[in-house]
Order: sequence, then C-alpha cells, then structure tokens
Amino acid sequence: MSQRIIKMLLAGVMFCLTLSGFAQQQRFPKPEFETGYSQPPTQQPLPRAIFLEYLDVAVLIGALLLVSWFVLKKRSRQGVLWTSVFSLLYFGFYREGCICAIGSIQNVALATFDPTYVLPLTALLFFLIPLITALFAGRTFCAGVCPLGAIQDLVAFRPIELPRWLQKVLGLIPYLYLSLAVLYAATKSEFLICRYDPFVGFFRFDGTFQMLLLGGLFLIVGVFVARPYCRFFCPYGVLLGWMSSFSKKHLTITPTACIQCKLCANSCPFGAIEEPDLEEGKRRPNVNRLLKYLILIPAWMLIGGLAGSMLHGTLSKFNKTVYLAEMIVENPDVRYDQENIDARTFMQAGKTMDQLVADAQKIKSQFYWGGWIAGAFMGLVIGLVLVNLSSYRRRNDYEPDKTNCLSCGRCMDYCPVKQETEHENDFRR
Ligand code: SF4
Ligand code: SF4
Repeated sequence: MSQRIIKMLLAGVMFCLTLSGFAQQQRFPKPEFETGYSQPPTQQPLPRAIFLEYLDVAVLIGALLLVSWFVLKKRSRQGVLWTSVFSLLYFGFYREGCICAIGSIQNVALATFDPTYVLPLTALLFFLIPLITALFAGRTFCAGVCPLGAIQDLVAFRPIELPRWLQKVLGLIPYLYLSLAVLYAATKSEFLICRYDPFVGFFRFDGTFQMLLLGGLFLIVGVFVARPYCRFFCPYGVLLGWMSSFSKKHLTITPTACIQCKLCANSCPFGAIEEPDLEEGKRRPNVNRLLKYLILIPAWMLIGGLAGSMLHGTLSKFNKTVYLAEMIVENPDVRYDQENIDARTFMQAGKTMDQLVADAQKIKSQFYWGGWIAGAFMGLVIGLVLVNLSSYRRRNDYEPDKTNCLSCGRCMDYCPVKQETEHENDFRR
C-alpha cells in the first residue's frame, strides 16, 4: 500500500475519532443546577500517579530509540511513519498533549528565574531527553515522537515548495516565539506555548472555538505547506535544530556514495535538502560582505534590545497584576464591580492599592530588562542569519541541512541507491 493511501486512511480515522469525541461531549452536556451553581471547568488532563508519569518518560525514550533505529540503521520511512502514528495516539490522544517537550521549555524557564518554583522531574526529562537525542541522532523526536508533528504529517498531501527567501523570513518566527515564551514564563505571567497550542483542542476533544479554528487552519494550510507549525512556529524546534546541527550521526539521503542522479532533489517537503555546488565559481564566498555582517551583529543586538525594552509596557499588559493595577488606577470604581472577577479577587485578597501598584511596577521592570534580553537575542539571530547567507561551504553531494531536517526519511525512499545487505555482500565476495 502506498504511503499516500496509508496517510489518507490514517487521517480519515483521526478525523472520525475527533468527530466522535466532540459528539460524545454533546450527548452528555454539563448538568444545570437549579441553585444557580455553575460547575467550574475541569482542568485537563487530570494529575496522574507518579509511576504513570515515569511510564510516559519510558515511552518517550522507547519511541526515540525506535525512530532513531529506523532512521539511522533500518533506513525505513514506513517504520518512522508507524511510530509517529503510535506517538500521536499515545502522547496526543491518550495523554491529551500533556506532558509535552515543547511546553516544558516554560517549566525550565520558570525554574531558572524563580527559585521557589519546584521543577517536576518529568518536565525536566521531557525537556532534556529529545535534545540529547538530537545531539546524537538528529531530530528524530520531530520525525516520529512529537504528536504535534505527527498530526501535521498526516495531512501533508500536496506540499508545495515555498521560495527560499520566504522560508528564511518565516523561519525567524520560532525564535521570536521562543523568546516571548521564556519572557512570559520567567515573569510568571503566562505559559504562552500551552495556551496557544493549536492542536491540544483536538487531542482533548475540547477547546475554545478560536483555538479549534486555529488548529483547523494549521491543518488546512498543512495540506499544502508541510508542517507549518513545526517550521514556522515551534519554539522547541529551534533548540532541536541547534542540537541537531552538531549531531554526531545524522540521517543521510543515500546509504553509500551519491551518484548525482538528482532524484531526491525535490523529495523534501520542508526544503531541507542542500544542493551541491558543482560548477566552479557558481557561488563564491564574499569575504567583504561576511565581515560587514559580522561587525554589524552588535548593532543588530542593540537595535533589537532597544525595541524590546520599548515594547515592555505593551508586553506587560498581558500580565494579570499589571492589567489589574492599570485598570483600577484608570477607573477606581471598578474595584466594587461584582461582575469583574479580577477586581473581586483583588478585593477579597485584602491587598492595598499601593501594594498592587508596587507589584505591577516590579513586574514591569522585569519586562523592561526581559525585553532588552529578548530583543538582543532576536538581533543576534537576524545577524547570524545574514552571516550564514553570506558564508559558503563547498558541497559535492545532495545533503540534508542538519538544522532544518526533521529526519522524516522521505528522501531516503527516493534515493535509488539502496543499502547492501550482508547477504548480498557475501554473494559478491
Ligand atoms: S518542530 Fe516542534 S512541533 Fe514540530 S515535531 Fe519538532 S518539536 Fe514537534
Ligand atoms: S529526512 Fe530531512 S532532508 Fe529528507 S525529506 Fe525528511 S526533512 Fe527532508
């Protein structure tokens, strides 16, 4: 059965599963209490027994080892595909998208900046294990373990290639998202990645209309632009890409020597295959431009930092304390508004206005310095992207770009050079 048919069948099953989940929710609506009591929304997923949390870690390690084996040893795209289906069912639908390596960035950021926060061991392991694996085997986590990647992979039926310049520009968004996610987690304002996870609503058969719409849009776009969230939003993908660029072993398109048949050239839906520079002088290093961009990096960082610090007022408004303080300062009567839950909570907590304003000022100052750091980081990223565009590395064969390659294994299928089995080797000898 061709991979396309398998994917269509799987996508159909997922669609039916999702629909039946929503249908079940409508069949059993929440009870209405005559006393006017309204049932509080359930926080999903519910806390689990500790041994089940360790089971998640064991499944993560097992799935990573399996995908790495399929990619590096067996060179099997089918193996990767089936493992990703399992991961989608386990980490996506069964574990309801939580615990999640992507979201663990925020736990780690919060633990780094707030010594009173106790970082759960499983969150730390989910953060570290895929990164360590990427250091040895490339992004095998993205290939077949991440449920967000898997759900997008299933709908990538007609991927088109985006222009390189557009990929480079959109590729800056994950860095911005990463810096904002760390800033908001470090200031205890919000876990942005969890709040705006576009697929978690499908995994839980629940979610606001806006988030389900967002997830649906990602999946529709994903039919034509392969894995849009992975490539142009995922903040964890940034870290995985860094690790993978130093990976000791990495997927190769061909198992032995490249015969320059070019069959794999258009096989990658993520534009992650680097072409060889065979013609002498086709592309030369531009040393002057490279030096200029290198010297400009501090300037980019300064501009970015300045912009980030100037935006601190706007960014901090999304913090509940800052929002409440500004609202009450602007309109003091709102304190007595029983309909306003934030104001009511503030009044019940017994805090004075002065304390609230002082707390808000402290948070704003954190945003000011955080804005400097996040902006400088973005400036550094832009500077390095420009340096990278001007640098030149001689390449004789078609190779995966280790940073952006998701180790999905599609290109291996296209390569006509196949691995010689031991039996064949013996026969030749
Ligand atoms: S890029 Fe992010 S969302 Fe995509 S597979 Fe990798 S970790 Fe998951
Ligand atoms: S393995 Fe890497 S280079 Fe090959 S098709 Fe997948 S993402 Fe592209």
